[in-house]
Amino acid sequence: MAYKYVDNYREQGARKKLVDELKKKGIEDRQVLEAIGKVPRHYFFDETFWTQAYKDIAFPIGEGQTISQPYTVAYQTELLHIKKGDKVLEIGTGSGYQTCVLIEVGAKVYTIERQEKLYERTKQVLPHIGYRARFFCGDGSKGIALHAPYDKIIVTAGAPTVPDVLLGQLKIGGILVIPVGDAESQKMVTILKTAEHDYEKHVLDTFRFVPLVGERAW
Ligand code: SAM
Repeated sequence: MAYKYVDNYREQGARKKLVDELKKKGIEDRQVLEAIGKVPRHYFFDETFWTQAYKDIAFPIGEGQTISQPYTVAYQTELLHIKKGDKVLEIGTGSGYQTCVLIEVGAKVYTIERQEKLYERTKQVLPHIGYRARFFCGDGSKGIALHAPYDKIIVTAGAPTVPDVLLGQLKIGGILVIPVGDAESQKMVTILKTAEHDYEKHVLDTFRFVPLVGERAW
């Protein structure tokens, strides 16, 4: 039987509660909260696990990877300060949930995933549920030079250091958001490119991501 994408009152209600929970946890950006309120996160879960979809938790999506915790998705999106039409590179497509949230806040998304099965699945599912992005399969730790420069870059896996190559692919005035640390925990880092070789760096809260695996990563 074909998988059904049904968004009924139960899921809509659970999504509203999730938005309230994220507000209480400190997410303030109205556009981001609205986006979380719109994207049907249960579409990224097997129907058996729909009851888990609106809990503020990460969840396995196969290939040893996870759909990020909604708080983390909202937190990273808020830090990007997306303006309508911003060209955004997302490194680590995963389930595509974060991709949909970025699209809802007005971004044009280029997204890259190294796991072929996840790439194939997400490339099919997103257009089917109404979200259009440019999908790529490969090592995103090198960025995607062909489509650079980007207004914003978001990395959704934990890196050992900030790959210089990503800074080179940012426009002046652009922002990179990347978790940096060891295998156990990472600090969220934002870097604003103020001039061709000038950057303003902020180190924020602690998270735990799956590793960014690649030539400029682990
Ligand atoms: N935000 C995604 C979501 O909501 O589903 C979750 C992303 S998951 C935490 C991180 C993803 O980054 C995984 O799917 C992993 O395969 C991918 N990844 C790790 N290293 C990568 C790399 N070098 N290039 C592209 N993707 C990578």
